[in-house]
Amino acid sequence: MSPSNSPGSNGKPAAAQAVSEADFEKLMEATYQTAKRLLPFMAKRRIPLTPFNYRLFYDYFEDGGDKLKERLDEILRNHTVLSPELSERLYHEFYDYLGDRARKLTLMGEKIGSISLDLESNLEKTLDTTGHFRQILSESASQMKDNPAADGRFRDMMEGLLQETKAALNDQSDLADHIDTTSRVIANLTRELRDQTRLASVDELTQLYNRRYMTLQFTNLTADRGEGLVMSLVLFDLDRFKSINDTYGHNIGDRVLLVCAKILQSHAEAGGHLACRYGGEEFIVMCPDFDLDAARELGDSVRRQLEDTAILIRGNSIPVTISGGVSRWRPGETIESFVDRADQALYRAKTSGRNRIVVEEEES
Ligand code: GH3
Ligand code: MG
Ligand code: MG
Repeated sequence: MSPSNSPGSNGKPAAAQAVSEADFEKLMEATYQTAKRLLPFMAKRRIPLTPFNYRLFYDYFEDGGDKLKERLDEILRNHTVLSPELSERLYHEFYDYLGDRARKLTLMGEKIGSISLDLESNLEKTLDTTGHFRQILSESASQMKDNPAADGRFRDMMEGLLQETKAALNDQSDLADHIDTTSRVIANLTRELRDQTRLASVDELTQLYNRRYMTLQFTNLTADRGEGLVMSLVLFDLDRFKSINDTYGHNIGDRVLLVCAKILQSHAEAGGHLACRYGGEEFIVMCPDFDLDAARELGDSVRRQLEDTAILIRGNSIPVTISGGVSRWRPGETIESFVDRADQALYRAKTSGRNRIVVEEEES
């Protein structure tokens, strides 16, 4: 989902990744191919080609996650009419985390909408023509059967059929051209939509997920897996980061944040966890299926790797360390309280000397 980084079909969040220029053409072709399959799919099932529906079914085709697929499969199975209200409700259910950017997406959606309406009226016209054509064919066939020897009438009928065939074929090829152009335009808009979705989910500087996306994943995971879910998180905070900024400048501070983000990302990718920039120099790695011990080990591995990484400024290596607090999710609790307990552990890591990972106190 990814935006292309929406959760994968295994229910685990995929890693945040930038779409490089080199992948642009490939992506264009892929979205175009999807649009080409998608339009007839929707037309055949009489799903109105509205922007909301297009987006929902685009993601349905492109593995937008198990939940979306289940929901739309159910709708298709029951032949539920996708009223504007229902599709808007579904849209908000699956894409509300886009927040501020939703307005921009809606504008793009409107563009897709007007193109789609145009396409739809063409489809209607052709369906009418083909319907009429079929009617003439069957009428002609039965007349032939009834009057096999009526030469003059037979010739007239053939003439009529030929004209109808030509008209229908012309319409069909116009439609094919129209679908082709429209698909390309929609492919472009869809790519833009995907980029916007990605931007709404990741932190601009580090390209890690942002807090909003992490909260959404937390909500999905806890809703899907309920009380049986074992999950821990590590809340990290760079040590004496203010003094790094003060000593070397803000740009160097940013470079340090990037080095740290890379380490976090590689740990998250390796284990199917989710790494996010929680605030300025605070990060969270959320680890489904990890107990406290496993999360503490992950935290310590991040801590050691950062300590061992030489960050060279004008030929000199500057020391950078990080502290972390670990907590385990308690069934039913909110993300705020889950993070808050990690924060208390982090506080103890700071006050007991920094450059260490501390685990929350056991439940009393
Ligand atoms: P502690 O070890 O107790 O965490 O000390 P600290 O200096 O890291 O903590 P403090 O909260 O006092 O300072 C955090 C600093 O992080 C202050 C702020 O200027 C800096 N910061 C936050 N976001 C960014 C950013 O995007 N880039 C840079 N360069 N600095 C940032
Ligand atoms: Mg801080
Ligand atoms: Mg700090």
